[in-house]
Amino acid sequence: MSTGSPVGSHRVVSPAGVLPQAADELDDNPDIAENEVRVRVERLNLDAASYRQLHTAHRGDGAAIRAEVLELIERRGKMHNPRTGSGGMLIGTVDAVGERSPLGLKSGQKIATLVSLTLTPLRIDDGLERWDGLSEQVPASGHAVLFARSIAAVLPEHLPEPLALAVFDVCGAPALVRRVVARRAHARAAVAVLGAAGKSGSLSLAAARDARAATVLGVVRDEAEAERLKATGLADRVAVADATEPLALAEAVTDALDGRGADVTVVCVDVPGCEHGAVLSTAAGGTIVFFSMATSFSAAALGAEGLAADVEMLIGNGYVPGHADYALQLLSANPALIELFEDRTAVPIDGSQASPRVPIDGSQASPRVPINGPQASPREGEAR
Ligand code: NAP
Repeated sequence: MSTGSPVGSHRVVSPAGVLPQAADELDDNPDIAENEVRVRVERLNLDAASYRQLHTAHRGDGAAIRAEVLELIERRGKMHNPRTGSGGMLIGTVDAVGERSPLGLKSGQKIATLVSLTLTPLRIDDGLERWDGLSEQVPASGHAVLFARSIAAVLPEHLPEPLALAVFDVCGAPALVRRVVARRAHARAAVAVLGAAGKSGSLSLAAARDARAATVLGVVRDEAEAERLKATGLADRVAVADATEPLALAEAVTDALDGRGADVTVVCVDVPGCEHGAVLSTAAGGTIVFFSMATSFSAAALGAEGLAADVEMLIGNGYVPGHADYALQLLSANPALIELFEDRTAVPIDGSQASPRVPIDGSQASPRVPINGPQASPREGEAR
């Protein structure tokens, strides 16, 4: 067995010299180096921005979405949507562990990878035949490879797997929000979360409150989401606005915050075009966390400059130490989060079939997928 590069550069097919995330194509060969781990894949979670782009491009045609995802994985050796630049993550069972892997994983463990699919060598061997193309979660068979410098979490046995997968996909958001809001704890920050009824948005609300924000404002797209969010009690205040309309968004945020902008604005919307609204909604000296993969660096930077806005802007790094554990803590402290996740992931927590969720473009409903999760206590972090 050879030793691979800890960062996976030996798996880059093209272009030469880049890291796996920037590669056009990765080597998905199942033979692992002595510091790699091979995972038997069971389910993928496509990134929300990526899935929405595919769904919109194919007008909700599940067969066409499935065909494009398969083609992308086969061509690139990884699930990396070139239009959104994003991927997602996966769950599976550890299949083989190289003798010099530092990850501490053991064969047979059920894990979630906490690194993006955009840099994870992946081969699918079932043609995604069990997926109808109409949900972010994809039942799949195949293998994936983890490098030495990687992260994975042993799946908590008390949570249904699809729920754990969806939570881990966005667990970087609440951990970063906690860090940013806690920095301002002395000033009792007003926090506005855009896309607040979504997965990363609802976890961010819970994190802002946990970090002792003075006011937690959830901004959602329509009255139906507003009612749903109000019922959870996760936000102190709820406002309705289209986050892609800067003037309307800023007015809704300042109205809801008694005439001032937010000290911290968190962008968890899965569509492009929210940069200027986020800048206008943020008070001077405030911070914007752009967690959304649909964020444009140039729109944010030039938009802030053009508005002479003195705001700090952070890219939502998906990795913050302890992020998966923290997301699980928030979930158990706020059961209302589970209901929102059920709704967003189209996965009922009781295993039953429920009503379909219609995507924003209204083209076709996403049927829900029943889940069957085992029960026990969380063990995230054991696998690092
Ligand atoms: P999600 O659960 O689908 O939530 C997105 C929310 O945004 C939904 O509630 C959606 O409402 C709302 N929304 C859509 N268009 C809107 C608009 N014009 N105005 C106001 N709200 C709008 O998505 P998620 O999984 O939390 O992901 C959110 C973003 O984070 C995505 O861009 C995803 O790619 C990104 N992400 C980043 C990382 C990272 O490491 N930084 C990791 C994972 C995901 P409707 O459902 O009603 O449309």
